[in-house]
Amino acid sequence: MTTKLNKEWHQANPMPKNPTIEERLHWHIEHAKYCQCRAMPEKLKAMKKKLKSKR
Ligand SMILES: [Zn+2]
Repeated sequence: MTTKLNKEWHQANPMPKNPTIEERLHWHIEHAKYCQCRAMPEKLKAMKKKLKSKR
C-alpha cells in the first residue's frame, strides 16, 4: 500500500490538541489539498454538509 504522505505539510500544520469540529473540518479540507495519507472521515463529511446547509 502506498501512502502519499506530505511530511512537510504535516509538520507545518499539526492538528490542534482539542480541535472543535470546525477546526477539524478545516484541517481535513486543507489536508486533502496537500496530502493523501488519509481520507476525511465520513462523519466529518456529513458535518461539512450540515454546516453548509446552515448558511
Ligand atoms: Zn497527511
